[in-house]
Amino acid sequence: MNRFARLLTDNGVELRRDMPRTLQLNLTAKCNQTCVHCHVNAGPARREEMSRETLERILDWLDSSPLPLETADLTGGAPELHPHFRWLVEQLRSRGLHVMDRCNLSILFQPGQEGLGEFLAAHGVEIVASLPCYGPENVNAQRGDGVFDLSIRALRHLNALGYGCTPNLPLNLVYNPLGASLPPAQQALEADYKERLHEDFGVQFNNLYCLANLPIARFGAQLRRDGEHDSYIDLLEHSFNHATIGGLMCRTTLNVGWNGELYDCDFNAMLHLQRADAPHIWDVRADGLAGQPILVGTHCLGCTAGAGSSCGGALS
Ligand code: SF4
Ligand code: SF4
Repeated sequence: MNRFARLLTDNGVELRRDMPRTLQLNLTAKCNQTCVHCHVNAGPARREEMSRETLERILDWLDSSPLPLETADLTGGAPELHPHFRWLVEQLRSRGLHVMDRCNLSILFQPGQEGLGEFLAAHGVEIVASLPCYGPENVNAQRGDGVFDLSIRALRHLNALGYGCTPNLPLNLVYNPLGASLPPAQQALEADYKERLHEDFGVQFNNLYCLANLPIARFGAQLRRDGEHDSYIDLLEHSFNHATIGGLMCRTTLNVGWNGELYDCDFNAMLHLQRADAPHIWDVRADGLAGQPILVGTHCLGCTAGAGSSCGGALS
């Protein structure tokens, strides 16, 4: 039994699914950045992506689903680099889904991405963008040289389009720590971000989501290289917070891999931790998933430590 499963047993918790609300699509592993903490190991050389055929099959599944989902969460890599990204957004919006784009900001200035901000605004797509600090040093250290300046330029452009300042165009930022520590309190950090980004750069945004780094992929390798892996797992385990269990994203998310495989979350997807009886999204009925057990591993300790961590930030 892994350490997280044992912790759940010791605390009398059985982790099971609720009714799904969000369809999270891992569109591509390709990215214009190679951030040191990336749990997808994304980068310019990666080639994995969802085929058009797989996307059409997922849309057919949505159309025949007896349970309407609320949100489509598009992630990668850089989801905008998928060749059918804009077509997919139109398809999802035409089905009434709220669409979220996990955007790295610098993508707005990549060749071939002209008009991306305008497109997202025209389709009312929510933007969730990583910015692990309100100053350049930490951002460039984690995400690459020059990324901070590009991020600020992108945020100003998005503000000019109405993002972060009009109710139908939410712009949310994501913070994650640089090293092997838990994120600080979300509310206080959000207030600092709002003050600094507005005063220093004239930038506005809606919410700041504080995420913990999960000890897998590039960040896991960095922990091992630095001899901090075991102490970080200990920190996560000792910081277990029972109150986070109810909000864990795996309870209401259907995560779909590049070939249509169904996972409980993005992290399980990267670890290929998958139910044997439901290899693809089109093998399940959305309304039949409530009550199903969730597959867990030691990495899950990152979601339940301290205030908790999910795609939407702290949980308690
Ligand atoms: S921008 Fe996101 S997907 Fe791309 S390398 Fe960084 S963390 Fe990974
Ligand atoms: S890593 Fe995934 S399965 Fe594990 S607790 Fe977090 S969201 Fe749930």
